[in-house]
Amino acid sequence: MYDVMFIGEKIKSPELKSLCVSPDSLVECKGEIGNFQIEYDKNDNIHNATVKNIVINLEAIRENPLSETINLNNYLAKIDENEDIIFIQDYQKISPAIINRETLNAAIRAKKEYKNKEIYFLYRSMRFIEDNDNLFDKARQLGVIFLKYEMDGIEVNEKGQVNYKRGDLNLDLKGSIITAPILKPSQKITRVARLLNIEMGDNEYIQSENIYLQPTLTGKRGVYSLAGARGPNAYSDLNLEINFTLNEIKSNLNGVEPLTEKDREIDEQKCILCYTCYRVCPHGAIDKDEKADAMKINELACYGCDACLSHCPADAISYVENTEPKENDLTLKVLMCENSADTAFQKLDKDKFNDLDIEKIPCASSIKKDEIFSYLRKKESRLLILGCFEESCKHINGDGRGERISNQIRNTLEELELGKTRVQFERLSPRMEEDLNDFLLRWKEGDQK
Ligand code: SF4
Ligand code: SF4
Repeated sequence: MYDVMFIGEKIKSPELKSLCVSPDSLVECKGEIGNFQIEYDKNDNIHNATVKNIVINLEAIRENPLSETINLNNYLAKIDENEDIIFIQDYQKISPAIINRETLNAAIRAKKEYKNKEIYFLYRSMRFIEDNDNLFDKARQLGVIFLKYEMDGIEVNEKGQVNYKRGDLNLDLKGSIITAPILKPSQKITRVARLLNIEMGDNEYIQSENIYLQPTLTGKRGVYSLAGARGPNAYSDLNLEINFTLNEIKSNLNGVEPLTEKDREIDEQKCILCYTCYRVCPHGAIDKDEKADAMKINELACYGCDACLSHCPADAISYVENTEPKENDLTLKVLMCENSADTAFQKLDKDKFNDLDIEKIPCASSIKKDEIFSYLRKKESRLLILGCFEESCKHINGDGRGERISNQIRNTLEELELGKTRVQFERLSPRMEEDLNDFLLRWKEGDQK
């Protein structure tokens, strides 16, 4: 039994027992999170394995939009020492954030390497996610010249010149021209998605926009997609995506709960094996039950949308009677700094707060983004972070980092329309037990800012 199977590139994760298969060698995949049954081809022999999670990690295809210009990969080795350097980002298509970052980094590197050359950076859009805004500022401070263009405002000719027109400006820029690549989906994605029974998004990607809080989730539980299987706009920061995914997998290994309160079952006498449910289930939660000659629902993979129920022509799918209600979706997590809020909390009647999931942390600045997202996985859950006042923080790094990170998460939640107030950051001193008491009572009742 493997913790994870990588399809495509293996990701370094020594603490997980992993298997890596190429997209071409995958033959079959059945089952659900925690128990995927895999068949794969190795040296012309079919092998079987059971894996708990699956990560699709296929490289994106990179195409240079203009064959006569230099590709961003390894550009420093190819530029002419005597010429200025012209970067063109967004040729043909607006570049995704990941390419925006690569091009900014390349321009910064070029400016440092060739201090006396002019470095031009032609762009149509700047994607300010993660640290792209810092890179943009840094490049400007170093003297990189940024020129915004419309597609009909630049012309690249064979003599290595770019004619740039915007308003009253009409410039002939001469130099080594470096174009940022256009990202295209890996050719193997469709086959992998079909074998795993996961839905494809637009443009031959599994997911073309970042629609989930945990960015690498696919519609099927326990299956994650990275890099060239996502994107191009969904794909922003590979290292961050890998961290999110590996943390999610580690938390899955401690056991996952069904997502729906009611179970659904298929009556094997009524099922006519028309495969309608298999086709309509958006989460790949239905397989053929080989033993019963009927379909079966994988309870852990089911999201409870009832698409199967409403489409079954034989009325073979129904709710299982008398199911015990599953754990409430509402989780109230509170992280308390041990130097302030937790000291105040020790003076309170703790029994009043038994319904809160309270955890002591060394410093609010130690909290990480992916941890916050993991606390918010259940859709009704909320997180309260209680740190010290800045001047009394004992840690060198406690300069408001915790507050900054929670604000970033709140912005993300707002953008995704997932409820900005689900995360809240507050500062307390160890002597503010009464304020803490009122504050926790109000928080429990859903009084959020
Ligand atoms: S839609 Fe109904 S009849 Fe058709 S395969 Fe599914 S359960 Fe069986
Ligand atoms: S309710 Fe049916 S269609 Fe919806 S996720 Fe569950 S098995 Fe799939």
